[in-house]
Amino acid sequence: MAGMLYLVPTPIGNLGDISQRCRETLEQADFIAAEDTRVSLKLLNHLGIKKSLVSYYEHNKAFKGDQIVQRILAGETCALVSDAGSPAISDPGEDLVKQCAQAGIVVCAIPGPCAAITALSISGQATGRFCFEGFLSTAKKSRREHLDSLKNETRTMIFYEAPHKLSATLEDLAEAFGSDRGISLCRELTKLHEEVIRTTLGQAIGYYQENPPKGEFVLVVAGAPAQETAVASDSDAAARVAQLMQEGMSRKDAVKQTAKELNLPKNVVYDIALSQSEDTICE
Ligand code: SAM
Repeated sequence: MAGMLYLVPTPIGNLGDISQRCRETLEQADFIAAEDTRVSLKLLNHLGIKKSLVSYYEHNKAFKGDQIVQRILAGETCALVSDAGSPAISDPGEDLVKQCAQAGIVVCAIPGPCAAITALSISGQATGRFCFEGFLSTAKKSRREHLDSLKNETRTMIFYEAPHKLSATLEDLAEAFGSDRGISLCRELTKLHEEVIRTTLGQAIGYYQENPPKGEFVLVVAGAPAQETAVASDSDAAARVAQLMQEGMSRKDAVKQTAKELNLPKNVVYDIALSQSEDTICE
């Protein structure tokens, strides 16, 4: 009979946050797959658990995933842990879960510490609807595309960020959402120096220029106010394209500019502009 894969969340700072069920699962598993075996060994020593560890991380997950799946299919039970928090959430594990599911292996996620949810709960931002955005890419183009796609997002947005990249990220968030947008910066959660600063993007930029950021951060950003997201009508788009073309812009550039200004897809604006010019010819 096939074994199982357990996703075991581990503390994000406070060792007291390991649950009884996580402890028992680690004890009872045949082996533990860990993001960094040295980090997980410290936790296991603290818990007094001796268990065989295999590494499973970003750069070996392709071939290690197959080996783990084979072991589980042969009847072993695997507990997957990451360095801290919930495996598979901005952590290795997503692919292993997919692989196991495809192989018909039962996957069981044990609830427990997760930096995103802990931050959202104490952020003071709206929690009714939210989206998790993980880490922004360091590549300029995909970072800009990611932020552009969020310009009209009305749900609360959750980002992970490392301290040395915080200031640049705050600048980019302010450029995308405006410096008055609310943000809660949740730092060192569950640790001795846990801190939540509830402020605006503009003020946060100033604050961290004076106080260099230290520790781990989750950024919880307020969604766009509903009125900012009013959808531009076809006639708004057509009028703007016509105006820009009258000012000397090519149709292609006018469509591009209008799409950007009204936050509409380029192909939609192109179709509107085209149908408008066809109407003009028909008249
Ligand atoms: N899977 C983990 C989870 O969901 O809790 C997150 C892993 S991700 C690689 C690490 C990021 O989580 C950090 O860069 C930081 O943004 C956030 N994080 C983890 N622990 C934290 C803590 N104690 N306080 C604030 N943020 C934390």
